[in-house]
Amino acid sequence: MSENKDFLRAIVEEDLKKGKYKEIITRFPPEPNGFPHIGHAKSICINFGIARDYNGYCNLRMDDTNPTTEDTKYVEALKDAVKWLGFDWKEKVYYTSDYFPKIYEYAVQLVKMGKAYVDSLNEEEIREYRGTVTQAGRRSKYAERSVEENLDLLEKMRKGEFKEGEHILRAKIDMGAANMKMRDPLLYRIRHAHHFRTQDEWCIYPMYDFAHCLSDYIEGVSHSICTLEFENNRDIYDWVLDTLKLEPPRPYQHEFARLGINYTVMSKRKLLELVNGNYVSGWDDPRMPTIAGYKRRGYTPESILNFCDQIGIAKANSMVDVSQLEFCIRDDLNTKVPRVMCVLDPIKVVIENYEAPNGKFEEIEASYYPHDVPKEGSRKIPFSNEIFIEREDFSENPVKGYNRLTPDQPVRLRHAYIITCKEVIKDDNGNIIQINATYHPDSKSGQDKSGIKVKSAIQWTCAKKAKKIEVRLYDRLYKNEAPESLEDLNPNSLSIIKDAYIEPAVIEEKADERFQFERQGYFYADPIDYTDENPVFNKIVGLKDSWAKKSKTEENETQVKVEKKPEVKKEVIHGEAQAMSDEQKALFEKYTTELKLNSEVANILARDAQLSSFYEECLTHLNSPVGLANIVANDVAKELKDKELNELKFKTSQIAELVNMIDEETISSKIAKQVFEQMCETGEKPKAIVEAKGLIQISNPEDILPIIDEIIVKNPDNVEKYKAGNQKLFGFFIGQVIKATGGKANPKVVNELVTQKLNS
Ligand code: ATP
Ligand code: MG
Repeated sequence: MSENKDFLRAIVEEDLKKGKYKEIITRFPPEPNGFPHIGHAKSICINFGIARDYNGYCNLRMDDTNPTTEDTKYVEALKDAVKWLGFDWKEKVYYTSDYFPKIYEYAVQLVKMGKAYVDSLNEEEIREYRGTVTQAGRRSKYAERSVEENLDLLEKMRKGEFKEGEHILRAKIDMGAANMKMRDPLLYRIRHAHHFRTQDEWCIYPMYDFAHCLSDYIEGVSHSICTLEFENNRDIYDWVLDTLKLEPPRPYQHEFARLGINYTVMSKRKLLELVNGNYVSGWDDPRMPTIAGYKRRGYTPESILNFCDQIGIAKANSMVDVSQLEFCIRDDLNTKVPRVMCVLDPIKVVIENYEAPNGKFEEIEASYYPHDVPKEGSRKIPFSNEIFIEREDFSENPVKGYNRLTPDQPVRLRHAYIITCKEVIKDDNGNIIQINATYHPDSKSGQDKSGIKVKSAIQWTCAKKAKKIEVRLYDRLYKNEAPESLEDLNPNSLSIIKDAYIEPAVIEEKADERFQFERQGYFYADPIDYTDENPVFNKIVGLKDSWAKKSKTEENETQVKVEKKPEVKKEVIHGEAQAMSDEQKALFEKYTTELKLNSEVANILARDAQLSSFYEECLTHLNSPVGLANIVANDVAKELKDKELNELKFKTSQIAELVNMIDEETISSKIAKQVFEQMCETGEKPKAIVEAKGLIQISNPEDILPIIDEIIVKNPDNVEKYKAGNQKLFGFFIGQVIKATGGKANPKVVNELVTQKLNS
C-alpha cells in the first residue's frame, strides 16, 4: 500500500493484522431514489477501492426500504455509474428488500427478548416524548406492553390490519440517553405502498437504522463505511448487532467526511427538483453533478477517479472548490486528445492574392498531437482563398496589448500562413461582414522565411470545406458559491451555437470523441444528439479556469514568440510549447507514472535540467515525491529565475527537512512558505527557524478550542446564519481561527473542531 494511507485503510490493515476478518468485504449502499452524483463517486471509490486494494470485494446494494420514492431506473443508473468508473461487483446486485423476511425475524427476536415494543403514540407525541439535547425524554406507556401483546400487534402490523402511523415498532433502549438517537429508535413503520421489487408483499418496512446493520451482517460485510452524519447512528448499529448476539465476525461502522463542492447542489432531492421542474434536460444534462451528466458532458472516468484521489479521505467535512474537479478533467485531456481548429463565431476573410495549386485546395498536413510529448497521427487541413476566423480575433480599434489581427498588425494562421488585413467590409449598420487580406507566400508555418513579426497565431477553417456543427457551451449551473434555491441558478449556464465551423477531418476521420479545439477548450461529440447531418459537440471544460480572477485580454493570446518567461503553469496548458527531448520525455514519464506527480509539475521539472537534478537530490534525503516536487517546482523554481544553483543559500537536505515537517504536520503548508522565504535569505535550517520563531503547528484541541469559543461569542449573527443553513459561513469560521493563530493552527484539526462546535 502507498505510504500515504488514509485512516480507513489504516483501520483495515490493523484489522487484518489482528486477524479480525478473513476477508475484507465492503459495500456501496445507495438508495435507488435518484441518479448517483459526484458525492456517490467518492463513496464508490472508497468502498470499491478499499476492497480492491485488499483483495476483498465490495457489494453493490440497493438500500430499497422506502417504497414511495424508489424505482428501477435509478437502479440502472447506479449500476452504470459503478461500471463506468471501472469497478465491478461480485455476481449480482444485492437488495435490502431481499432480506425483508430475515430482518422481520430479527425484529420478532428482539420483541421476544423484551428489547423491542410496539408503540402507538402518534408522530407528534413521539417527537415530544423524545425530549431535547438538554432534557431526557420519557417513555411511552405502551412500552409496558407484554411480549405476547407486542408479538400479536407486530404480526397484525405485518398483515396490514392497521393504518399508516397507527403503530410503530421501537427498540427499548434508553429514553434518557445523551445520544438522542438511542432514545428508543424506530425499527419498523407501516407503509401501504407498492414496492418496485417486493410488490405488495409487505406493508411494513424496516427503518434505515435497523435494516442497514443487519444487511451488512447478512452479507458478511467487514467494514461498513458511511458518511459523518451517521456518526450518532453508530450506537444503534452496535446495539442491534450486539443485542441479537449474532455470531462473529460482525461488521463495524466507520465514518468519513461527505464531499461538498461549491457552486454545486448534491442532494438527490434538490437534483430531482431540477429534473422535474425542467430546469435541466434530465438527470444526464451535462450541467448536472451526476455521473450520467459528467459522462454525457465528456468527462472521463479517469478524471473523476483522480479527483476522488486528490480530495482524499478525511474525518472533517469541508468544501472542495469546483475548479479542482475542472482541473482534473483538463489535466487528463491535455495530454490525451487531438488538437484541432474550430471557429465558433465566424467572420469571413478573403485572401486576395492566394491561388490554390491547380485551382483546387492546398492541403496542409498538421499533427493531431502537437503536445509536450507528441504522438503519431495527423490530418490534412484544406486551405483556400476564403477562410473563417473568430470574430473576436480581429479588432479594428484594438486596445493596448491586443495581439491578434488588426488593420496594422498581421497575424499567423495556425499551421498556415501569415496574413495582413487590407480592407474591412461592413453592412449598412456598420457590422463587419468580411475582411479582405493578403497572405505572405514565404511565411508557411515551419518554413517561415518572411521575417515578418507577429504576436500570435489564431485558429481558422477553410470557408469552402469546413463543416458546420452545433456547439453547446456549458457554464456552472449555479451562480452562487453556496447555492440554496432555484433562485441561485445561473441563467447563462447553457448557450447553443448553431453554426460553428470545424475542419472537415474532425467529422470525416473521427480520430477521437474528444478534442481540444485550439484556444477554445475541450469538446465531446454528444453521445445522444450527434448525427452526421447535425454533429453536436459539448464543451467539456475551457483551457483554463475562467472563473479565477478575470484575466487581462493579453493573457488570452497564444504567444508565438515568448518574450517574457510566462508563468510555467499556463504554458503547459495552452502554449505551443517546444517538443521535449528524449531525455526530458523519459523524465516526464517517470515523474508522472512512477512518482505520481501531476503532469503540470512533472512538465516543469522534466524540462529544466537544473530543477530536475535538484529534485532528484532531494529525493535521496526524503521519500516524499509529491511534497518535494511541489516545493521544487514552485518555490525553488522561482528562486532559480534570477539565480544559479550554486548561489542558493539552502541545500537539498534543507528542502527535505522542510517537506518532512509538513508531512509530519509539525508545520502547516502556509507556514512552510514563510520558513522557505527565510531559508532563502539566511540559509538557516528550517527546524531552527521554526523553533526560533515558534512556528510549530498548533494541533492540540485544548489550545484551539478557546480561540473558537471566542470567535463564536464575537460573531453571534454568523453563528445563527450558519445554523440556519448558510454553509458558506463555515469557511469564515475556519479563516478566523487560522488568522487568530497567525496561520499556525492545524487546518485539519480546526476543521474538525469548528464542525463539532457549530453543530452542537
Ligand atoms: P443525498 O443526500 O445526496 O440524497 P444520500 O446520502 O441520501 O445522498 P444514498 O443513496 O443513501 O445517498 O448514499 C449512498 C452512499 O453514498 C452512502 O454510503 C452515502 O454515505 C454516500 N454518499 C452520498 N452522498 C455523498 C457525498 N456527498 N459524499 C460522500 N459520500 C456520499
Ligand atoms: Mg439519503
